[in-house]
Amino acid sequence: MIDYLSLQTKEYIMIKMSLNMLEQLSGDSQALDRAIAGEELSYKDGLELMKYDNLHLLGAVADTSRKKLIGDTVTFAASYYMNYTNVCAASCQMCAFYQKEDDDGAYTLTPQEIEQRVSIAKQMGATEVHIVGGFHPKLPLEYYEDMMRVIKKNHPELNIKALTAAEIFYLSKLTKNSTREILSRLRDAGLDSMPGGGAELFHPDIRGKIVRGKCSGQQWLDVIEEAHGLGIRSNVTMLYGHIEKPEHIIDHLIKIRELQKRTNGFITLIPLKFSPDNTELEQECLASNECSSIYDLRVIALSRLMLANALNNISVYWVAYGKKLAQVALSNGGNDLVGTAFSEEIYRAAGKPTASSVDELATLVKEIGRHPVQRDTHFKIVRQF
Ligand code: SF4
Repeated sequence: MIDYLSLQTKEYIMIKMSLNMLEQLSGDSQALDRAIAGEELSYKDGLELMKYDNLHLLGAVADTSRKKLIGDTVTFAASYYMNYTNVCAASCQMCAFYQKEDDDGAYTLTPQEIEQRVSIAKQMGATEVHIVGGFHPKLPLEYYEDMMRVIKKNHPELNIKALTAAEIFYLSKLTKNSTREILSRLRDAGLDSMPGGGAELFHPDIRGKIVRGKCSGQQWLDVIEEAHGLGIRSNVTMLYGHIEKPEHIIDHLIKIRELQKRTNGFITLIPLKFSPDNTELEQECLASNECSSIYDLRVIALSRLMLANALNNISVYWVAYGKKLAQVALSNGGNDLVGTAFSEEIYRAAGKPTASSVDELATLVKEIGRHPVQRDTHFKIVRQF
């Protein structure tokens, strides 16, 4: 097995080029042949490729698919991440974030406090704010409307990417308004787009073991389809590397593909590598062997191949992978690095413009011979390097 991470960039690229020339030797896998031909892959194909033993060839085919679909550009946004509250009525097994109202570490920001932080982020160069939180059992719908209004009034050019489909579903139950009503009111108050969180894995067999008190996979899909219908586009995530099996990954990707065919509302898929520390799943994940980098690369490659011709953008969340593995993942089907992912703490500690971190991401991209581009939420070009 070649250890890609220990190779110099040029050596790695040479190996990948050689593998590209070997595509025609893939005859031992009909699924891979179909992927090379650009055909839509079935559930059975996906399962075959999840177990396909030549990961280098699989990655090369995914890389070729990426190149054919969108060329050599690698994008990233200048994003500001904020959690408005960590209070949550749910208690998911996979979560190390939530607190109960009376816990010492519990907090909830006012709309004014949120706006002040957004203001600093904008000065640092952010073009979007990514705002999510727990399922707060007492915040009314007006709190969220105020949050949108105060940000939009002071920063009309910023894209407000806020509240997951799971939060919208919870808010609907809490306030006894329909999800459509809530989405419409938030859109009218300034909501521009939605993050992809809360999707986790849709399959009920696995979802029931990793979330507790959160909407089902189908409910998440229904809310996001409604949002797309109202003109609110979104990302979609896939939480992997915990206790799932290959069929849960493929099921998730096919459900995304089917919805995307109906709405074209997804902007990018962000596979999220699970971090088991301080969660209820910590022991189980360690016992079943923590997710390896090889598995990360397989998931990125399968994401590209299963969604080919439906969703062009496959994001590599470098914060979870580290920059070196992110470079390799970009050469296994990925085309986007998500963003600078600054939180307010980092802003304060750094005390310097966003541009420096944007430059860091650009350097990371140049090192693998691709073209870095800063993008906005909808993948429009903000800056070329
Ligand atoms: S819904 Fe689940 S994952 Fe989200 S904050 Fe609450 S406990 Fe954590």
